[in-house]
Amino acid sequence: MMAKQSQLSRREWLLAGGGAALAFAGLKVQGGMAADPTMPPLPYPQSALEPVISSRTLEFHYGKHHQGYVTNLNKLIAGTPMENMPLEKIMVEAFRQGPEKAGIFNNAAQVWNHTFYWNCLKPGGAAIPAELRSALERDFKSVENLKKELSQAAVSQFGSGWAWLVKDSNTLKVVKTPNAENPMTSGQKPLLTIDVWEHAYYLDYQNRRADYVAAVIDKLLNWEFALENMKKA
Ligand code: MN
Repeated sequence: MMAKQSQLSRREWLLAGGGAALAFAGLKVQGGMAADPTMPPLPYPQSALEPVISSRTLEFHYGKHHQGYVTNLNKLIAGTPMENMPLEKIMVEAFRQGPEKAGIFNNAAQVWNHTFYWNCLKPGGAAIPAELRSALERDFKSVENLKKELSQAAVSQFGSGWAWLVKDSNTLKVVKTPNAENPMTSGQKPLLTIDVWEHAYYLDYQNRRADYVAAVIDKLLNWEFALENMKKA
């Protein structure tokens, strides 16, 4: 379910390019090509996240699910004014237009979310940079508390969705969203995310979402990417 349209007025930063704080912000979605040029490359080899996330999971998650959202989106916007819009603008515009454009919003948001998620993971993980650490200690009392909140959000999201570390005005917060939804539609700026759709972990962890979440938080999160996003947000 999409958030209320009345929230859109608070999202002008997106249209103004405020959401461009991402490495892939220039990603364009264009249809009609057999080999889709808009599928962003994985930032590491497919097996680089093992043993936390297997090569087999990425083969399907990146190669089939993420690709599927790109393919669907390209089909849905072909021949429409959205065809040549940047991805974030498609998201915002589809969201603004409401339920009639839910298909476009869902696929555009899933393309955005997945590209962001790949960048939130780093083979071997990353130490928390001092500047981010002090912000986390300011808003969560301790890094351990932040990790606990993030884990709780990820584990408790009912059904498919995402857990996020976001910047909301000048405060860092943990939020969760269902299905394709993205905190940007509530004016929050994503710093990190964990995909908790079953396709993200089922081949490796089956029903044990909590084990997947714990392993990702302990071993793979790219805190350097989170800091970059915090500084640009
Ligand atoms: Mn996914």
